[in-house]
Amino acid sequence: MNRGVAIWRCVKCRTGFFPQRLLCSRCHGDTFEEDRVYQAVVEEISTIRHMLGQTDWQPRRIASVRTSDGQRITVGLTDESEPGTVIELFEENASPFGAAKK
Ligand SMILES: [Zn+2]
Repeated sequence: MNRGVAIWRCVKCRTGFFPQRLLCSRCHGDTFEEDRVYQAVVEEISTIRHMLGQTDWQPRRIASVRTSDGQRITVGLTDESEPGTVIELFEENASPFGAAKK
């Protein structure tokens, strides 16, 4: 498990993006460096109850979150966090997840 989730930051104007872009929407710069965000606020939650072709699928919750740096990203939730909860971000098998701060 890695703490935080990778984002890409424009080296010119320091705006952070997720997912990665070819050009910065703010200054049209084309050079980015990887950065990480560690915290987000849950905005919306949905539950995936079925997955086609998966027989032993467990319902899982995914959340649309707003990171402390301003990006909106979708993460898997590993606890019962509700909208408005501040969560900590982490990556597992290269996928973004979040859980409430302990
Ligand atoms: Zn920029």
